[in-house]
Amino acid sequence: MTDGLPAPAGAVLLLNGRDVSNWTKRDGSAAEWVVEDGILKVVPGKGDIMTAETCLDHYLHLEFRVPDMPDKTGQAKGNSGVFLAGRYEVQVLDSFGWARPGKGDCGAVYNQFAPLSNGCRKPTEWQTYDVAFRAARLDESGNVRERVRMTVFHNGVLIHNNIELPGATGAPIDNREGVPGPLLLQDHGDLVQYRNLWAVPLPAHGSTVYGPA
Ligand code: MG
Repeated sequence: MTDGLPAPAGAVLLLNGRDVSNWTKRDGSAAEWVVEDGILKVVPGKGDIMTAETCLDHYLHLEFRVPDMPDKTGQAKGNSGVFLAGRYEVQVLDSFGWARPGKGDCGAVYNQFAPLSNGCRKPTEWQTYDVAFRAARLDESGNVRERVRMTVFHNGVLIHNNIELPGATGAPIDNREGVPGPLLLQDHGDLVQYRNLWAVPLPAHGSTVYGPA
């Protein structure tokens, strides 16, 4: 479990704990979700929000919980989404109890990859995503030389193992590859909540030595 995992040194805190002053809507205008008791809450109808900070390769940690919507099913049940770099959505949904989650269920890379297993907790319980994001690599002409890759843990369960994405999922901020992007959270009309959001920028290449010289 990674609930409450403290942000390590060098992490960028994506939620200031008080408000959404470091977030905007997709069009750049002020975000209108609310923060109460350190919890970021979707305000249905106010639209997706994204961070002012942008990252290229990074490790993302966040916690979320979906509401209990017993009368709803499928995509209408606790839907939101976490868009790495504003372009690649890891689905947030109440998929608790599904034996074989599909490409639209919680933990899926939306419409591209189903999670390896169902890591969901019950609705209203806090859950975690831990994501290693490796941006696409470009050649000198700006063409994709190596595709974007992600490894994802859901509540500490490995659900994507270094998968190679063909490109952006639906509704990206744009279709550029290999450039920094914000974290974008989706307003899909449901009362999903988030907390403890942070990102650690990662070096583009491995090294035998890290840290100050
Ligand atoms: Mg979604």
